[in-house]
Amino acid sequence: MTDVSRNWVQCDACSKWRAISADVYVDELPDRWFCSMNKDDTYNSCEKVEEPQEDDDDNGENDDNGEDDDDVSETVDEETANLEAEAEATAAELVKENKKRAREEDKDRRAKERKIASETKAQQELEDYVAGLTEEQKNEHKRMR
Ligand SMILES: [Zn+2]
Repeated sequence: MTDVSRNWVQCDACSKWRAISADVYVDELPDRWFCSMNKDDTYNSCEKVEEPQEDDDDNGENDDNGEDDDDVSETVDEETANLEAEAEATAAELVKENKKRAREEDKDRRAKERKIASETKAQQELEDYVAGLTEEQKNEHKRMR
């Protein structure tokens, strides 16, 4: 919607468009116009974001993100703080879980090692037994000759 009660004038320094009251004739403004000349103190500085222009053919040139920057960064700060608190809690939880898991894994690992050790022992005994049999067979063979 075009606000018929206002005219738009562009700042010569920052190229932002500022709305001025329609009873100010744009033709009467100085050749070079700056935000600081704006009577509307919401938009009277180049630091200040451009006022959203509805139904305006200059929209393409606008920095659409500019107008919300302050709000967005506050929200982001808040969200970041929340996330950080959450991350800390999660990290503490993870450390606890990791310790518990490490203890359990340690228990598992030792049980497996014991099992492997006993299997290895059994294997060794079997090999010794087979070796013994083979030796006996050889001896028997010799005796038979
Ligand atoms: Zn300006």
